[in-house]
Amino acid sequence: MKAEVVTVDRNRPDRAAIERAGQILKEGGLVAFPTETVYGLGGNALDPMASMKIYAAKGRPSDNPLIVHIAELDKLDEIVTEVPEKARILAEKYWPGPLTMILPKADIVPRETTGGLDSVAVRFPSDPVAQALIRAAGGFVAAPSANTSGRPSPTMASHVEEDLGDAVDMILDGGPVGIGLESTIVDFTEEIPVVLRPGYISLEMLQETLGCEVRMDRGLLITDSSVHPKAPGMKYRHYAPKADLAIIEGPEDAVIRYISRAAASAEAEGKKTGIIAADETAPLYRQGIVRSIGSRQDEEEIARHLYGVLRDFDSDGADVIYSEAFYTPRMGQAIMNRLLKAAGHKIIHITEEEET
Ligand code: AMP
Ligand code: MG
Repeated sequence: MKAEVVTVDRNRPDRAAIERAGQILKEGGLVAFPTETVYGLGGNALDPMASMKIYAAKGRPSDNPLIVHIAELDKLDEIVTEVPEKARILAEKYWPGPLTMILPKADIVPRETTGGLDSVAVRFPSDPVAQALIRAAGGFVAAPSANTSGRPSPTMASHVEEDLGDAVDMILDGGPVGIGLESTIVDFTEEIPVVLRPGYISLEMLQETLGCEVRMDRGLLITDSSVHPKAPGMKYRHYAPKADLAIIEGPEDAVIRYISRAAASAEAEGKKTGIIAADETAPLYRQGIVRSIGSRQDEEEIARHLYGVLRDFDSDGADVIYSEAFYTPRMGQAIMNRLLKAAGHKIIHITEEEET
């Protein structure tokens, strides 16, 4: 059955629509909804059947745990057995917002929701539609990104319809999201907090807030396949467009020349070729389908547009995509983490000398 798509005002969500969506969740159904990061595929987090439905709808491996969303700080203590002081400090500073914390789970959280783990990922989103829905559903909504597993995360309701239109009961359309990349995940199950997934909130921001060491998960830094990332979901090829994507990194002029040459030869072989550039460089390319993901002066714009541009190339039927690199100051870690995964870690480093 095709999902009902209901348009909601992001700042003043319609009560009746939210009540209806909340009722669907209470009865074990699935509702896709906007958050400030990406669209989520929601089910009742305390209902094992609902979690299983989420895995089935996404085609997601069931060892890949779901994030439980809350809309009141008090609810945290109901689903975890312990909140370390550092986690309290981060909650105070960044919630509601794009931060997920991994904590030891309480018994009421079923293992179906946590992918069999004894810990649970918790987030308190800032989006008013998300908050209203979570409250209407009873307080605990398990929600991964509302995409088919392996595809770029949805930043608009139309992306959700494309992937899951037949698998959910309702889609709340609150317009395009603000951030466009999934939340920063911090693991508190060990002594030193560890970032399992970089996001809008950077490692440096966390270190500054806590005034202590915060580590980046080794599995994210090393591309060696013997070291697995700790977040089960981070090991899968993910966020990927259908085309073969390569990232080209180096001095700007050299990158433009390299991509132009590579695109020209791909086109000569009859391949449909896409180029991911910035506002500043997009006009300089003469071959292929060129898309800018934003200005290099505005990293939030780049983050917001990344997934949409990857999806647009899928719609074009691109065979190959060449992308510039985006090591921007604050969100660069998060942007490049997603882009590298989309490229299956195919990155070409060039220098002026090599290139001439
Ligand atoms: P998504 O639901 O698509 O935003 O992805 C959630 C991410 O959080 C995945 O990479 C999961 O593996 C990770 N995650 C969720 N719960 C846990 C947990 N208890 N321990 C480690 N990683 C988790
Ligand atoms: Mg996801």
